[in-house]
Amino acid sequence: MNKVYAVGLGPGGEEFFTGQAKAAIEKSDVICGYTVYVDLVRDAFPDKEFFTTTMKQEIDRCRKALEIAETGKTVAMVCSGDSGVYGMAGLLIQLAPKYKDIEVEVVCGVTAALSGSAVLGAPLGHDFCVISLSDLLTPWDVIEKRLRCAGEADFLIALYNPRSHKRVEHLKKACDILMENKSPDTVCGYVKNIGREGEEKHIALLKDLPDEPVDMFTTVFIGNKETKIYGDYIVTPRGYEKREDL
Ligand code: SAH
Repeated sequence: MNKVYAVGLGPGGEEFFTGQAKAAIEKSDVICGYTVYVDLVRDAFPDKEFFTTTMKQEIDRCRKALEIAETGKTVAMVCSGDSGVYGMAGLLIQLAPKYKDIEVEVVCGVTAALSGSAVLGAPLGHDFCVISLSDLLTPWDVIEKRLRCAGEADFLIALYNPRSHKRVEHLKKACDILMENKSPDTVCGYVKNIGREGEEKHIALLKDLPDEPVDMFTTVFIGNKETKIYGDYIVTPRGYEKREDL
């Protein structure tokens, strides 16, 4: 069988790769992916062959990886964070049957919700969900419905793709929907460039989030009604403080 690994690299540099991710790349002849992610591994694996594509060519990128694998080479398709979370793993599995003798193996990585939450402290200490504000592949009314339900249930939320040049107003719309049920003073935070040069963390209240300089390299964290600020950190308590005086 020819092998394609779908590898999540975590948020940034080499210190975030898991041992399993490193091993999969070691075993591969060719590293494929979006240029920015391939650049994260180039220095660590200088002897590999590289195949890169630009941002919106996901289907072509997967086809190319599968075509290369068909020639007998082992391929690592690299993604940031986890390869199955808004990543390429699903598409590779879906397309693989169209190619000869291909086995896809998914290698998990640290998704931005988890790496970013560690930077902020422990904002995701209770039940949480992840919602992407990108309506490139998901209709906006579906995104609104999920935001409304998550707000109603007071979930902690990690927002991916919170803002881009084309989606300037999405974060404001999302905050307005969440404030139908959550307090405007809900403790929130955001982390830019997690694990990369220029990493920044900020704490903000829900009502102020839309005015913050959030971009597409940012993950936004929305608290629940228990979320609090402790010095430079955000914590969503699990409930131990009901037993102990913390
Ligand atoms: N597969 C990725 C998610 C891709 S969707 C993962 O599991 O992390 C792209 C979105 O993820 C970005 O718009 C941003 O919201 C978030 N993200 C990914 N990497 C990030 C990083 N290093 N710093 C901040 N946010 C990041």
